[in-house]
Amino acid sequence: MKCSIQGCPGTYEQRLIVHTVKKGADVLVFENVPSEVCDVCSDMLFAPETIRHLEQLMSRRTKPERQAPVYEYA
Ligand SMILES: [Zn+2]
Repeated sequence: MKCSIQGCPGTYEQRLIVHTVKKGADVLVFENVPSEVCDVCSDMLFAPETIRHLEQLMSRRTKPERQAPVYEYA
């Protein structure tokens, strides 16, 4: 599929990515999330069922696989 960003000649390809979501003071990290990523500008698209699955994981308060350290840059 062709990239939807105006002027970008890239195409989307299926990749497994790391997706982070900020939820209040918490940062949630999802690994190996299937996504369409542009090979030129790295624009990202999720399929509707992927978004649904992420929301399910968040709402169920599933126990995370691992905990990740969070660093403040400043
Ligand atoms: Zn692009």
